[in-house]
Amino acid sequence: MGGRLLLQEYPHQGHIFPKAIQRFNMQGACSNWVEIDLSAIRHNLHVFQDVAMESGARLMPIIKSEAYGHGLVEIGRLLDQEGIWGLGISEIEEARLLRQAGVASSLFLLSGFPVDAVGEVIRLNLIPGICRIVELNILNSYCARKGVKGQPVHLKVDTGMGRLGFSRARFLEIMKMKASWPRLDFSGIYSHMPVADMPSDPFNMAQLMSFNSILTEASRAGWHFRWIHIANSAGFIHFEAARYNLVRPGLGIYGVYPGGTGQDILDLRPAMSFKSRIADIRRVPADTPIGYGHTFYTKRPSRIAVVPVGYDDGFMRSLSNRAEVLIHGTRCPVVGRICMKALMVDVSCLSSVNSGDEVVLLGRQGAESITIDELAQRAGSISYELMCLLGRLNLRIYL
Ligand SMILES: *Cc1c(COP(=O)(O)O)cnc(C)c1O
Repeated sequence: MGGRLLLQEYPHQGHIFPKAIQRFNMQGACSNWVEIDLSAIRHNLHVFQDVAMESGARLMPIIKSEAYGHGLVEIGRLLDQEGIWGLGISEIEEARLLRQAGVASSLFLLSGFPVDAVGEVIRLNLIPGICRIVELNILNSYCARKGVKGQPVHLKVDTGMGRLGFSRARFLEIMKMKASWPRLDFSGIYSHMPVADMPSDPFNMAQLMSFNSILTEASRAGWHFRWIHIANSAGFIHFEAARYNLVRPGLGIYGVYPGGTGQDILDLRPAMSFKSRIADIRRVPADTPIGYGHTFYTKRPSRIAVVPVGYDDGFMRSLSNRAEVLIHGTRCPVVGRICMKALMVDVSCLSSVNSGDEVVLLGRQGAESITIDELAQRAGSISYELMCLLGRLNLRIYL
């Protein structure tokens, strides 16, 4: 196919090719690629750190789900050097990969652990969030058998997410029984905010009040938690009262605003771009149907470029006839349905355009840019989902 990216031709210097490259052969390796700007990630982390420091809070950046498509190990290694409290993950396997890569930071399991992985929790030196009593039982007996003392755990309370965590009543019962788990150090308590990206929703303040009242009750009973956390990116940005002494930003670290708001509060830079090259261009007369289902007919004599990006690459089919891409710094519409491995773009507005020319599907080209929020909106999705898909399904190049 014409216009494929040859890695040897790739213009940027100093990039790293991650393991993903091994999935492709080097000759004409990949048509499409995701660029991750590590300096943007570092910048965003510092922005969060500066604000957190004012509130006396430490940072637990969240790198689950392949660091939202940005690369678990690459981002984990970068953040490991940045004086964070620790990293938030959701799988034991993620911990294994991070430890293998030399990441020494605390690793926090956001959603507990499968009981048969208890040995890994200890071996990999993890701090589990606890959502079920069985986790306390199994962890305590494992620690007793191995002679481990003071294994830290954070109890999760559900204050309105309706997902994981103990109810207030259950939490209080557990704390009354905490002598039953003498090997464990109940060093933290946490919860999660379901509507913080809608800051005017009164539920947010109600939730913080109910979390506070649990904390007050705990402290009256003489239970002291060293680490208290509830804020995701949106909670951190919009609610100072949600910061406590530890915060768990994910999305913001990657330079994206939850719910698309907060630009006036933090200056974040998006880290991910998605690019390709034109595979072929054809001149067609007016009234030519384009693609599966003939959902688009040219209105005039047109030039149609084929770009080797499809839904298999995470460019969701719901973007058919909706997305725009950048070519020569100009917005051009995607026309017809997005295929598995191709999409069509009307490039009639460009004066000279050739196979091999760069196509930006996400990110900046010249003075124009396409944001993840724009794409997500056009796809009927959210930034999180699109970043996960694009980052996981494409070769990642680190700048
Ligand atoms: C994913 C996750 C976060 C991060 O949320 P963002 O909206 O990406 O900042 C924080 N806490 C928990 C428990 C999570 O699962």
